[in-house]
Amino acid sequence: MDLKSMIREIPDFPKEGIGFKDITTLLQDGKGFKEAIKRMADYCRDKNIDIVVGPEARGFLIGAPLAYELGAGFVPVRKPGKLPGETVEITYELEYGTDSLQIHKDAIKPGQRVLVADDLLATGGTVKATVDLVKELGGEVVAIGFLIELTFLNGREKLEGNEIFSLIEY
Ligand code: AMP
Repeated sequence: MDLKSMIREIPDFPKEGIGFKDITTLLQDGKGFKEAIKRMADYCRDKNIDIVVGPEARGFLIGAPLAYELGAGFVPVRKPGKLPGETVEITYELEYGTDSLQIHKDAIKPGQRVLVADDLLATGGTVKATVDLVKELGGEVVAIGFLIELTFLNGREKLEGNEIFSLIEY
């Protein structure tokens, strides 16, 4: 199945010069969505993943079904003020300014085997922050998986030392 053909590219969104990879056209195709999650799961079925962690919001769309497919738990990473329990927070650099993410303090037990999952690897900033939150809680990041990787942005460099996989490259 050609998953790449199910992704729609919207030019100049959200701003000029960005070619936005729209995964909604893949998600709305039942067979495509199922195949994408199955293929991502195939990368890590033998890794004994305890927890899949996905950053808001598209990381939920990929991470939750992936966790279900693997028989693992799912833990959300969210923008400040969204999680109701006690959290730990990380602030990271953006192109202009900074952003913050939070995770529930008790969501991961030390030594648990974690897969970090998101829809797309661009510069890697979001997922690097997510990985750092998991490590702060004592989780072991076993792999990082993406549906899409924009290889020309070299996001892998920011995630050096981790096992990384992606299904679709641009
Ligand atoms: P980054 O932290 O730069 O790796 O990117 C953070 C998030 O922004 C990704 O997980 C995507 O959800 C989104 N994103 C960045 N660039 C694009 C793009 N060209 N098309 C669609 N989503 C993008």
